[in-house]
Amino acid sequence: MLIGLISHPDCLQYPVPEQHPEQPARIRAIQDLLIAKGLDILMPQTEAPLASPEELKQVHTAEYVDRIFKLGEKDEMSWLDQDTPFTAQTLQAARRSAGACIKGVDLAMQGPVTQQFCLVRPPGHHAEKDRAMGFCIFNNIAVGAAHALEHYQLERIAVLDFDVHHGNGTEDIFKDDPRVLFCSAFQYPFYPETPFITDRKNIVNVPLPAYTRSKEFREAIAEHWIPAIDAFSPQLILVSAGFDGHSSDDMAQLMLADSDYGWLSSQLIALAEKHADNRMIAVLEGGYNTTALATSVLAYLQAYWD
Ligand SMILES: [Zn+2]
Repeated sequence: MLIGLISHPDCLQYPVPEQHPEQPARIRAIQDLLIAKGLDILMPQTEAPLASPEELKQVHTAEYVDRIFKLGEKDEMSWLDQDTPFTAQTLQAARRSAGACIKGVDLAMQGPVTQQFCLVRPPGHHAEKDRAMGFCIFNNIAVGAAHALEHYQLERIAVLDFDVHHGNGTEDIFKDDPRVLFCSAFQYPFYPETPFITDRKNIVNVPLPAYTRSKEFREAIAEHWIPAIDAFSPQLILVSAGFDGHSSDDMAQLMLADSDYGWLSSQLIALAEKHADNRMIAVLEGGYNTTALATSVLAYLQAYWD
């Protein structure tokens, strides 16, 4: 199975304060390892376009998008919440990150390479309709999903989120849309501390206690996610791929290994083949130990060559 890579230099160039965990080195470490392993030449590469304000307004309020673009005209750094620094360059990168998901959906729908990995920052899954949060400016995956719903009139899209933090923003955006099945597996109790839905058919939340290990993680996915995805039979799968549940990532306390991300990837590849004509787009969310992040992404991608 072939998978392409969508990225843009803007996603590397925007600055954050020195001690901030969401560093350009995250992307660089992944790129370096893909080159060292020779995977970069096996993956067709596509440049991420800029998402337009209109595309962002499919999931965010017009007032929020206009405010962020206005703030992007300023030279100095501002903070959108206590964790989220913002400059004109951040706006550019955030538009590329959302644009990567739109481009990914176009490639998935039109071919020839219907599976793509969006190697982008900033991440997106904490961004709600009207607020930035936790390093996220725009909800990249939601922008991609909205594009698929509107432009291709899809009726069933699965959004699967295995970042260690709950995808509160994605849930906020799609909770009332039965065309979207949202599955999240995350450490709980933990950031973002927002309430999550437990009683809706299109939302499958799997809270995991701190120190959850590989076996329990895989059992939880097999028990809760896979039957829900099989029953829903998505026409397109979108994946919020966060790797901060790795045991070496001190952002959280799950005890996952590289091989768990490889296992999960192989499960998702099988589901995409079974239900979605092999249409699947993954977008990078978290992962803050750059070494573990790079080896985890490598394991995730290597499943395509197994
Ligand atoms: Zn995270």
